Parts: sequence; structure tokens; C-alpha cells
Amino acid sequence: MIVGEQKPLEEIKELIGEAEKVLVVGCGTCVTVCFAGGEREAQLLASTLRLTSQVDGDPKEVTEVTVQRQCEWEYIDPLATQISESDIVVSLACGIGVQALVERFPDAWVVPGLNTTFLGLPQEQGIWLERCQACGDCILALTGGICPIARCSKQLLNGPCGGSHDGKCEIQPEVDCAWHLIYERLKRMGKLELMLKFQPPKDWSTSRDGGPRKIVREDLRVLPEEGY
Ligand code: SF4
Ligand code: SF4
Repeated sequence: MIVGEQKPLEEIKELIGEAEKVLVVGCGTCVTVCFAGGEREAQLLASTLRLTSQVDGDPKEVTEVTVQRQCEWEYIDPLATQISESDIVVSLACGIGVQALVERFPDAWVVPGLNTTFLGLPQEQGIWLERCQACGDCILALTGGICPIARCSKQLLNGPCGGSHDGKCEIQPEVDCAWHLIYERLKRMGKLELMLKFQPPKDWSTSRDGGPRKIVREDLRVLPEEGY
């Protein structure tokens, strides 16, 4: 899932500035699961903004709404009236949701209430860990399902650096060395020969380095009927 955390209240207040009618929009998917921008957080932020704006002597009209997913048109289209009646929209979705609102409602001023941080998973209650950097050419089959791109601090592809020590990465004693994990995993699975398979320099053009990416599935597209 996409993991993010809410911006500090002072920063959100600064983004809102002089605007009087504020609409806080939560998202019911990834950012709900990471307790950053779901219905509960949208309600909490809206009531905090109402309260603090009164205390600051600049009372604002703050309303909130949460949609199932801010990154799909059908879920955000019903917001048209509420958005048109607001001076500013504070999106508590990831950066994709913010941009979806901007694309669908070009006359609205939409600001992010979250810092979108990574693709990851909850390790335990209250702790999330990065697991994927969406490189566009997955190599997990070679590494026993452990991603050296997201989890090795140097994104090494042919084994560990000299800084691996007692299974930990040299950057911080509490960070696991990804290549130590890969080694242990391959050993356990009887596939250590994969460690010796030379990985040529990665073609990063499938990642963000190749510019904005796009997927087209012709089999899923709804094309206009002939004659239209
Ligand atoms: S190899 Fe690429 S796609 Fe696969 S988990 Fe790592 S970053 Fe994600
Ligand atoms: S110690 Fe391990 S995880 Fe850290 S940079 Fe070196 S190989 Fe990567």
C-alpha cells in the first residue's frame, strides 16, 4: 500500500492561509489503513482547524468528506458541488489523490495534507516499512522475494557491500542489510546459486528515471463505436 503521514498542523494552516471555506477530503483506502488520511483523520483535522481558527481569531468554515478512493474518477465526481462551494480543498489522500482532484476540478485550489512517503507494509501496529520502489522491472525472483532496490541503502544488485555487519546495514545498526536477508533466504530455500548469477547494470528506463510512466491495456480500453 501507499504509506504517508499527515503534515504538521502548522504547515497545513499555512497552506490554508486566508481561505475561509475549507473542505478536508479524506481517502478510504491506503491512507486509512496507515491512519494518516481516512475518515477519522479527516474528521479530526477538520474539527482541529475549526477550533484553532477560532482561537486564532480567524474562524473558518471547515467541512469534511471522505471518499472510498481519491484516485478514481467515479469516487470523486460526486464531490463537484462541495468543491465548487469551497475556497480551498485539503486532500488527505496520497499525492495521486491530490492530483486526481486537481485534474478533475481544475478551478479548485487543492493542497496536500499528507506527505506521501513510500510503498510498504505495516510490520506491526504503528510501524510501516518500505518494500517497493516501483522500478517497473521486478527482480524479486532472483532475490528470494526481498527487494534490494527498496531495502538496500545503496540499491546494490550483486551482493552486499563491505559495510554489512552482523546482518545489519552500515547506515544504521537497526536497519537490516537487505543482502544478508537475501542470502539467508536463498540458503533456506536451497537456491544459493542465484547469489552467483551476475546482474548486469539495471535498465532504469522502466523506473522513474525514464520519465513519467504509462500503462496502456488495449484489451481493457473502451473505444468509441465506429461511426462516432
Ligand atoms: S524489484 Fe522493483 S518492482 Fe520489484 S519490489 Fe523491487 S522496486 Fe518493486
Ligand atoms: S550494508 Fe547491506 S543493505 Fe546496507 S548498503 Fe551494504 S549491502 Fe546494502
